[in-house]
Formats: sequence, C-alpha cells, structure tokens
Amino acid sequence: MRIHHHVSIILFLAIAGAIGLAVSVGLMLGSIERAARAAGRSAEQYSHVETVVANGRELAATVESLTIGSSRDAYRALERDLQRSTITLARLRNNGLLPVTAQVDEAMVVLQTLTRQERRLAERGTAGEPAAAELSQFREGVSNYVTRLETMRMIALDTAGSLDLELSMRRRYMMLIVGVICILYLAVIDRVRHWTTRRLIHPVQTLARAAMRAMENEGTFRGLEQDSTDELDTLARVLASFVDTLKTRVRERTAEVEQQKANLEREMVVRRHAEDQLRHAAFHDKLTGLCNRDLLLDRLERCMERARRHPEYKFAVLFLDVDRFKEVNDSLGHFVGDQLLVAIAERLQECLRGTDTLSCVDSNTVARIGGDEFVVLLDGIAEREDASVVAERVQLSLAEPFRLQGHEVFTTASIGIAFNEPGCDKADYLLRDADTAMYYAKAAGKARHEVFNTQMHAEAKSRLQFHNDLKRAVDNEDFDIHFQPIISLSTGGICGCEALARWEHPDRGMVDPVEFIAHAEETGVIVKLGHWILHRACRQLKEWRDDGVIDAAVTMSINVSKRQVAERGFVDDVRKTLREFSLDGSSLNIEITESVIMDNPDSIAEVLKQLKELGVEIHMDDFGTGYSSLNYLHRFPLDVLKIDRAFLGTKSLENEYADVVQTVVALAHTLNMQVIVEGVETEQHLQKLLALNCDFAQGFYFSKPLTEADARELLASKPTWLKHAA
Ligand code: C2E
Ligand code: MG
Ligand code: MG
Repeated sequence: MRIHHHVSIILFLAIAGAIGLAVSVGLMLGSIERAARAAGRSAEQYSHVETVVANGRELAATVESLTIGSSRDAYRALERDLQRSTITLARLRNNGLLPVTAQVDEAMVVLQTLTRQERRLAERGTAGEPAAAELSQFREGVSNYVTRLETMRMIALDTAGSLDLELSMRRRYMMLIVGVICILYLAVIDRVRHWTTRRLIHPVQTLARAAMRAMENEGTFRGLEQDSTDELDTLARVLASFVDTLKTRVRERTAEVEQQKANLEREMVVRRHAEDQLRHAAFHDKLTGLCNRDLLLDRLERCMERARRHPEYKFAVLFLDVDRFKEVNDSLGHFVGDQLLVAIAERLQECLRGTDTLSCVDSNTVARIGGDEFVVLLDGIAEREDASVVAERVQLSLAEPFRLQGHEVFTTASIGIAFNEPGCDKADYLLRDADTAMYYAKAAGKARHEVFNTQMHAEAKSRLQFHNDLKRAVDNEDFDIHFQPIISLSTGGICGCEALARWEHPDRGMVDPVEFIAHAEETGVIVKLGHWILHRACRQLKEWRDDGVIDAAVTMSINVSKRQVAERGFVDDVRKTLREFSLDGSSLNIEITESVIMDNPDSIAEVLKQLKELGVEIHMDDFGTGYSSLNYLHRFPLDVLKIDRAFLGTKSLENEYADVVQTVVALAHTLNMQVIVEGVETEQHLQKLLALNCDFAQGFYFSKPLTEADARELLASKPTWLKHAA
C-alpha cells in the first residue's frame, strides 16, 4: 500500500475521530444542558409547590381555628386564605410554574369546591345557623386539599431529585465518554506514531545505513527485506540504482584517477630517466660513455680537497694521448676511428679493474676529454710508482692489436703523469701538468710515459711566452722572407725561388722556421702569417720582374700549411693577390706536404682543383717523408714532387737512396710530373741528380736562402751552374 493511502486513512480517522468527539461532546453538552434546564425548572416548580403547600397549610391552620361561632372576620380571613390559595395556584398553574399534573387540576377543583363550601359556611355561620357538619366536611375538604398538596409536593420533590440525579449522571457519562475518547485518541496517535516509526522512519534509516555500508564497504546494496510501502520499495530501488550508479561512477573515476596516476608515474619515470640521461650526458662522453672533462674536474677537485685534509693521501693523474690516431682516422675512416676510441676506453677500464698491484686504488676515474685524449684519475695510491705501474699496464694493454671492421689496428699511447704536489691547488693546473708531461712523452718518441716535473712547467711557460711573442710578431708583421733559388737541371739556370719565412725573436734571435711555423699552425696565427707571406712573395716577384731582375719564366714557390689550405677563402686570397700584382697563376707554385692532403682529402682536392684553374702549380713538398700511400698521386692534380733532402743525406747519393730517387723520378715522369730534389749540397749530388734525370734541384750547393737584396743580386747575375760544373 502507498504511504499517501496510509496518510489519508490516518487523516480521515483523525478528522472523523475529532468530528465524532466534537459531535458527541456537543450532543452530551446539549442533553446536559437540557437536563440542567429541566432540573432547574423542576426545582423552581418545587419551590412554587412549597408556596402553594404553605398557603394550603395556612388555610388548614385558619380552618382549624375556625369554629361554628366564629366571627365574620374569621370567615373573611378564611375566605382570603382560600382566595390567596386559589389565585396563587391558578397564577402558578397558568404561568406554567407548576408541574402540569392531575394533582394540580384536582387541587384547583378541590379549591373551587372549598370556596363554594366556605361561602355557604360563611353564610350560615354569619347567619348563626348551626353548620357543624358542613364545617367538619369543610375541614375534611381542606385536609384533603392539603394532603393533595403534600402529595404534589412529594411528587415535585421526587421529580426535582430525579432530574438532579439524571443531570449528575449525564455529566459523569460525558466525562467518562470524553475520557474514553481521549484515551482512544491517544491510543490511535500512539499507533500512528508506532506505524510511522516502523513503516517509515525505520525503513528509511535502514536504507540510509545500507546505502552508507554499500558505499563504504564496496558491498552490494541490499534493499528492504520486510514488507514495505510502495514508495519505500521505489525509494529502495532508486537508492539501489543510485548506489550502483554512484559506485560505478566512483569505480570509473577511481580507475580514471588510477590511470592518471599510472600515467603520471610513467611520465615521472620517463622524465626522471630523461633527467638521468641529461645528467649523464652532461657529465659523460657520448661516444665512449666515460666521464667527460667536467666530471673529471669535479672528481679531481674532491681529491684535492681530501688531500688538503689528509696530507698522507696521494692521487695521480695520467694524461693519455693516442699516438698517430689521426692516421687511423684518415686511412680507415672516422667510423673505425670512433671504434678504436671505444675499444681503447674499454681497455683502460679493464686495466684499472686489475687488483694485483693496484689493490691500494680506491675508486678510479677514466675520462675522455678530447678527440684522442684520455685521463685516468688514480684516487688513492700508496706509492708514486703505482702510477707508473698503471701507465705501463695501459701501454701493454694498448700494444695488443685492435680488430675493427676487419682491420687489424696497432696503436700506442703517450702518457703524462702528474701527482698532487703541495701548492698545486687547482684541478685545471694538475690536468695541465699531466698534459705537459704527455707532451714530453710524445716529444721523447711516443709510446711511453713521463712524470711531470717543474722543469717541464717552466718550459711550458716559456712555450706559452713563445706563442704570445709569435702572435705579436704576426700582428706587427715582424717577419722577413728569404729566397732560395731553384735550379733547372736542363738549363743550369735559376728557374724559380722558394720563399722561406724568417723571424728574429727579440731575445732568442733567429728562430727555426720549422719551430715557429709549427707553433703558428698550432695556435692558428698561420692563417694571417700565410697571407702576409703570399702577399710579400708575390710583391717581390712582381718587383723583380718589373725591375728586370728576372724574366717572366722565373716562378715563386711558397709553402702553405694545412690550416691555411683548409681556411675558407684561401683560393680567393691567392686569386686576389695574383690580380693585385698582375701575375699569372703560372708564376706561382704552392708547396704542400703530404699531411696537408691526407687530412681532409675531399675538400683539399677541391681547393687544389680551383688553384689549378688559376694556373697555379702544385708541388708536393718533403715527398717521401709522409706515411700515406701513393694513391694520392692519381687523385690530386700535382705538378711537381719535391724529394725531401733526407734522401740525399750527408753523404753522396751513393747509398740505397739513389735507387729511391731514381724510382720516384721515373714514377713522376710516368705520371706526367716533374721532380725537384732538395738539399743539394755538393757537386756529387748535382752530378748524381743529373744522372738520375731529375728536373730541378735546390740546395746550399747553389745558394742558401738569401735576403731580398742578396737574392736580387744573385738573380740579376743570372748564374748557370751546369756550365760552371762542366
Ligand atoms: P721546406 O719547405 O722543405 O724548405 C726547405 C728547407 O730546407 C729550408 O729550411 C731550407 O733552408 C733548407 N735547405 C735548403 N737547401 C738545403 C741544403 O742544401 N741543406 C740543408 N741542410 N738544408 C737546406 P728552412 O728555411 O729552415 O725551412 C724549414 C721549413 O720550414 C720548410 O721546409 C718549410 O716546411 C717551413 N717553412 C719555411 N718557411 C715557410 C713558410 O713561409 N710557410 C710555411 N708554411 N712553411 C715554411
Ligand atoms: Mg718548401
Ligand atoms: Mg721541403
């Protein structure tokens, strides 16, 4: 059943009960009212009956006192009493103030009878006639009248009493009924409360608890087991569906949140990984995975800090440079070069893993800080000798051939060792010292190690000073050029000059060009210096021509270094210089060494091609001293091979070198090239070269490199050595 049916019934019952209560109370009040009114009227009638009775008694008393001989006044008094009784009775009866009973009517009749008797009695008495019998009859009549009145009074008294009783009875009934109704009402209300609690409030609370439990415990929502109202059933169903929906939503939302959390965690892992990679990349070498310079410096700083706190603590830095790495790179390609570096890195790490002689080493670092430069930090060595032991072990390990891409590669390393000496308080400095020692190892023949000492530092400082001086000299153009003639072996005359740079150091005097050119190359100032030499040599050639010192066939050879050729705009520089001095390209010979070509063959080939387009000849200087193959003779547009003076040696060309020179000459001629032999110092040299069919010669035998003035003089004299020789 529906709640509103219940509520309707309850309301109906309540209203009906209330109406019933009101009606019954009204009815009862009405009946009590009527009963009260009847009782009041009855009491009033009773008092009037009393009056009538009193009149009757007075009448009886008057009659009693009356005798036969009584005076007229007595009869008149009697008559007055009778009249009063009659009038009173009649008035009360007519006014309805007496109960309408037969006794009243009879009393009226009796009174009328008495009145008639009295008149007769009075007439006889006053007439003095004996009337004893009448008097006695009259008395009897009066007594009868009084008796009737008494009866009437008794009846009135009864009536009033019974009405009073009824009134009080009705009041009591009413009280009883009202009480019973009230109790019933309370009972009904209690039932209603009970019903409401049992059928409405409890189920709703049960539903609420069930819903809460279902939400909290993840259990299923259970509806109402007992019978319940339609609305609560509906509510339970709605609630169950609501709870289900809510739980589904919560599950979905939870799943979503879990998913988001998982995504977030994944993202964090990815990000952390990326950060780790970034951090790793920031401190590690990409190719080998070793520490990089930054991380090495950081660890070095820590070691130094530790050494400051614990003077007994020792550590060492090994600076390692792979010998001739460049050659591997150039001949086998960068890929093999990279693989070699990776393999070297692995061997270095393996060397440090050994525990025999290096059990004292706590934690070591292997770093790659440059192309082929590695650094080993020995953190915590017992003796300084341990560092040398490691260096030797490294060298032994590297001596084993590397098998890379089907090639067997042999390599060695030069190692510089530096220790934490008191006073060396910067990681950079220690690294620099180890580098300096490495430099000495290289200079001392490579594949060895050197321990840093202060002398090396002093020398390094002076080298730095030298670099600075050189740079200043280049900026100030504090150079000179000497010219060494090149002799044509077919004519015996000078066919060209080689321009050779000269630098007089303010303190050291004349500096060997091999030394300052190497420094200039190292520091990059060679580009500026090279430009100056090219310019200066071409100007000189132009001047001599213009001055008639030489004819147009005499050429100028200039030496060009690796960095110069690699410099963008080099060909433009040559072109502009030639144009500036109105020289043909054929007036200029550019001497390059094998190492220039081998460094970056493809781009150099392009530069040489462009120079050839200008008409410039390309001479291969110091031919025979390089390590590269002869392949390039085909690849590059070379005009002349300039055989290094080492092939002549100090002795005459009686040795095995003669064969080499002969072979080179034959090879050159086959390839349509010519040959200049450098370092001709003696007559025998010259004769031999003539016999070997060389094309050109250069050397002290003809002339040392000369100042401009001396060269001018020599050129102007137009010497011919062959005639002289002959
Ligand atoms: P190089 O190009 O092979 O120059 C020839 C060197 O051999 C010169 O030394 C010259 O003085 C020396 N020489 C010539 N004839 C004889 C001889 O009969 N006996 C001996 N023992 N030596 C002889 P220099 O002038 O000391 O030059 C050395 C090297 O310096 C040059 O070798 C060249 O590679 C380089 N160099 C000199 N000037 C320049 C320059 O202007 N630019 C570049 N890039 N390098 C230069
Ligand atoms: Mg030269
Ligand atoms: Mg040379």
